[in-house]
Amino acid sequence: MGSLDAYYRSRSLWLDGVGESLEPRPSLPGDIDVDVAIIGAGYTGLWIAFYLIAADPALRIAVLEREIAGFGASGRNGAFCSWAFAATYEQIARQAGRDAAVAMQREMFHTVDEIGRVATREGIDCGFVKGGTLTAATVPAHVASLKAEADWYASWGFAEHFRWLEKDEADARIRVAGSLGGLYTPECAALDPARLARGLAESVERRGVTVYERTPVLSFAGADGDGGRLESGRVQTACGVVRAPAVVLATEAYTVGAPGHHRDVLPMYSLMVATEPLSDDVWAEIGWSGRETFSDGRHLLIYASRTQDGRIALGGRGAPYHFGSALADRFEREPQVFDALHRVITELFPATRGARITHRWGGPIGIPRDWYPTVKYDGDAGLGWAGGYAGDGVATANLAGRTMADLILGRDTDIARLPWVQHRSRPWEAEPLRWLATNFATRMMASADVEERRTGRPSKKEDLIMGLIGR
Ligand SMILES: Cc1cc2nc3c(=O)[nH]c(=O)nc-3n(C[C@H](O)[C@H](O)[C@H](O)COP(=O)(O)OP(=O)(O)OC[C@H]3O[C@@H](n4cnc5c(N)ncnc54)[C@H](O)[C@@H]3O)c2cc1C
Repeated sequence: MGSLDAYYRSRSLWLDGVGESLEPRPSLPGDIDVDVAIIGAGYTGLWIAFYLIAADPALRIAVLEREIAGFGASGRNGAFCSWAFAATYEQIARQAGRDAAVAMQREMFHTVDEIGRVATREGIDCGFVKGGTLTAATVPAHVASLKAEADWYASWGFAEHFRWLEKDEADARIRVAGSLGGLYTPECAALDPARLARGLAESVERRGVTVYERTPVLSFAGADGDGGRLESGRVQTACGVVRAPAVVLATEAYTVGAPGHHRDVLPMYSLMVATEPLSDDVWAEIGWSGRETFSDGRHLLIYASRTQDGRIALGGRGAPYHFGSALADRFEREPQVFDALHRVITELFPATRGARITHRWGGPIGIPRDWYPTVKYDGDAGLGWAGGYAGDGVATANLAGRTMADLILGRDTDIARLPWVQHRSRPWEAEPLRWLATNFATRMMASADVEERRTGRPSKKEDLIMGLIGR
């Protein structure tokens, strides 16, 4: 490995584009006492620190990060700062009633705007533009499923937020080859993921939080690596011990490496590619002047954005799940998946043919067994966890941050009563079941897409896929 700066830049287009050096901040210098210890400097950990220090500037807060701020999914994602919350309205309604599901969605709409407001106020130059999301129909089966989705949103009272666009109207936003129309919502912003994460780290530091980088946490309150128990409020790092009455784990997919948390989430790799900056002529063909985020109706998810410097960054699923929830740098590079993503760009946007792919990267998302994210805090044990966003974490992590701050400070607010607070998901099955079901479901999604392209009709595999992935 060359310099650490080069290694961190190679993790994503976004980290590569950060203006300042990515050489790590100082590690924890030895044992310390603080009021709150936060493990992980992604959006979740940093937003928790942000709202805590804003509420009480006297708090001593340490953020403990194994690599650098924004190293994980927060520095690598698809740039959708979106309304989407991973659990379905039906799931939430079954657990807490229809009003709770509606309240959760309304708070997610508000959260997108909150991130834009804070970025402006804090001078975080992350290119936040609320252009909405267009989900295009590119085969007749998508028309049926996306129109049904618009009706479904309307049945929950959100008709004004999600609208079916006929082909001409959709083309006026983004010209996609073979478009038959699309579903549009204004409730999403595009942003530069790494600049948001790095900017947030600077912002909390200015207010007195210390972010310790290259400080791996080895064990923490409740459990140690040998199956024994550590005294509550004690975090053992490779660089010293942090004692704190409140400890929060904000490690998303990497949570599988924490003692006692191996089956809390399933780490699934999502991979991305980005083109070189495209010429004005190419953009004149495609349109896309509103910086909308973009997807289409296929089962094997793809997601894309037009970057601030005029590239297309497109990601998708298709990378395998690795036995035993294994994580490794090499799993972020799957040549076949990169080639498939490149093909998707040229199929959807033929004007890009010949444009070079300059960046290829990936990262893990954390999926809870019931696809239901949570923010939970046990005041007696002084231990909290937030995450399980299942690929919809950019905005949700902000809501987690605001909520965790309220829970730690014991404030009885509206958001502290939302249905995801203190939710418990059951653990994932032991292997080989996780491996078999997850990789089979990925294959089924790809084959459902082929079938829909061939027949023009919605695939009947949908129910089987949903059963396999546990939704
Ligand atoms: C390729 C990709 C595309 C995505 N696209 C989107 C999108 O468009 N929209 C959206 O909403 N969501 C998207 N997501 C998901 C979203 O990025 C995440 O949900 C979100 O960033 C999670 O933030 P986090 O802070 O909880 O976790 P992370 O950003 O993963 O941060 C966790 C941090 O914990 C650190 N850590 C782990 N273990 C330890 C330890 N033992 N000690 C100390 N530190 C530790 C890690 O180094 C890491 O920095 C995407 C994810 C990926 C990978």
